[in-house]
Amino acid sequence: MLAQKQVLHAVDDFDLTIQEREIVALVGESGSGKSTVARLLARVYPPTRGEIYYRGRPIHRLRTRRALFWYRGEVAMVFQDPFSAFNPVFRVSHGVMRNLALHRPELSRAERKREAERVFKSVGLSADMLRRFPYEMSGGERQRVGFAQALAVRPKLILADEPVSMLDVSIRAGVLNMMASLRDQEGVSILYITHDIASARYVADRVIVLYAGHMVEAGPTETVLHDPKHPYTQLLLSAVADVREKEDLISADTGEPPRVINPTEGCRFRWRCPYAIGKCARVTPRPTPIGSTLVACHVAAGDVEDDSETAGVPSIADDLSGQKLVPSPDKPPASAV
Ligand code: SF4
Repeated sequence: MLAQKQVLHAVDDFDLTIQEREIVALVGESGSGKSTVARLLARVYPPTRGEIYYRGRPIHRLRTRRALFWYRGEVAMVFQDPFSAFNPVFRVSHGVMRNLALHRPELSRAERKREAERVFKSVGLSADMLRRFPYEMSGGERQRVGFAQALAVRPKLILADEPVSMLDVSIRAGVLNMMASLRDQEGVSILYITHDIASARYVADRVIVLYAGHMVEAGPTETVLHDPKHPYTQLLLSAVADVREKEDLISADTGEPPRVINPTEGCRFRWRCPYAIGKCARVTPRPTPIGSTLVACHVAAGDVEDDSETAGVPSIADDLSGQKLVPSPDKPPASAV
């Protein structure tokens, strides 16, 4: 008998639009598919299905060197690890000057130098730091160099993949504020990928929450963080430690990790969801507008009329605001959902 082919669905049914001068936070735990989205946008992977458009052009159908060069000048990437993102034998000016020479050949040598100093200033570094080697800088300074390198090509969109997750907590806010100033002063849009939903509040105009490759909630940052509709968004927020509120230190998470290999129909969060009903195992919830947000949840959308297993299940349709998730300790195993 032939073994069944295993197919991992890293991201499914995902629809994302980023406007000019907008910071969109893509939030989710490890394995949710957020870095896959960034790599698809950076053309590291081709999508198996679907299309990605940049300014009306399908990016995976760009073939000529000229078209690819254009795209790489419009969309730049900043990587997670500021310690391995630079070649240690070169000064940090190397990457900036190289990007300027490649993408802006109209600049003279003196103009390139002035532009390198300008982009360093834009990210909060002084011009004399251009002469330093990576090992002479802190993690926060190196991450700023990463943004300066991206900025040198004059991008319209920066893909920032967990840019502060490897930095000390004390310097994260400075880098996040720098990202906000790039949006305001340089006019770039940023896709900010993070597992830390609390940090989205600092910079993001919009938040998109991913779970197991599905978008579960999306909307304006303040609305999503103050009035989360999806149980997973609530769970993420309940895990944010607040030293002023002792009871919030206890995470309410239980259940199994998501299954993204050969996934079947149904909500991928159902094994961890305290509100799951029978329909959740049969029908995949689609993003539905609720106020100014999009939420993929049958119960939050009130789409439970034809379900015979709602009795005894707490309703989150009426009031999810501010409610903490408290899963039942005797929650049925996955096979019963
Ligand atoms: Fe998914 Fe159902 Fe829970 Fe909503 S109630 S998150 S659809 S399992």
